[in-house]
This record gives sequence, structure tokens and C-alpha cells, in this order.
Amino acid sequence: MQCELCGSVCDCRPATIDGVRMMLCPGCMRHGTSIKTSPEPSAGVKKPILERIRKPAVKDVYKDMDKELVSGWNDLIKNARKKKRLSREELGFKIGERTVTISKIENGDLRPSDKMVKKLEKELGIFLIEEVSSVSSISTGSRSGDGLTLGDFIKKEEK
Ligand SMILES: [Zn+2]
Repeated sequence: MQCELCGSVCDCRPATIDGVRMMLCPGCMRHGTSIKTSPEPSAGVKKPILERIRKPAVKDVYKDMDKELVSGWNDLIKNARKKKRLSREELGFKIGERTVTISKIENGDLRPSDKMVKKLEKELGIFLIEEVSSVSSISTGSRSGDGLTLGDFIKKEEK
């Protein structure tokens, strides 16, 4: 089994990130909420992916947060960093993160923590947080998106 977040092959378990079901390795589990491996009760009823994404499960991830990352946050960070003419190493040094962490964030493979978001906003002069209530409606498109990762989802949203 392969971790859908970092791609490492190990003992991955089902979890939700932002309401999206994924298989996560122990290292990435802290980014999501682990779910029990009981079979889905309504296996016959296939809900559109967006309905599942916006389930109340989101509340579990952001316990007392009423805000979330803007869509395309990873590109926003990357572009802002380039504008500042900073390398990933330099940005990582400034905010106290490893270069590989910066790379993963810019690739959309890693969701920056609350603390990291604040540091990135300050360092790059950008805004990465938006009110959840202002989340725009996203076109549903095809229903073949069951294997969608969070990254794919964000890419779709940008179109
Ligand atoms: Zn992982």
C-alpha cells in the first residue's frame, strides 16, 4: 500500500484530510483524521465526491478553526517565493523548515500547519487563509473522481 500524501510505501491506513479519504502512512497521519476500517454502510449509494469533501468531518480536522487555506495555496507560495527571489533553501531557513518540507508544500503534497501558514504569510507577504463560508462552489464534473487526491482536487478547482 502506498501513502497518498508522500508516496512512501509502508503500513498505510485510511484517513480523511479536509474530508477527503486517503491512505496515509504513520508519518502523514498527523495531517489527517484516521477513520475506522469498518465497511461503509451505504456501499450501494455513491455520493458525488464534493458532498463527501464538504462533510462535517472537516470540522474534526480544524477543530476551532473557521478558516481554511485558499485554493491553489501551493502555487501562491511558490510564486511569492520566486518574486522574493528566495530559493527553497532560503525560505526554509527563514521559517525554520527543511527544504524538503518547502518542496512538498509547493508541490501541494504537504498541507502546511497553522503555524507554518502564519510564518509563510509573514515571510512572503501573502494571504493563505480564507473564511470557510466563502468557499466557492466547484463544478462537479465527472463522477469518476473517486481516486482523487487533495492535490488533484486543488488543480481542478483552479480551472
Ligand atoms: Zn506519507
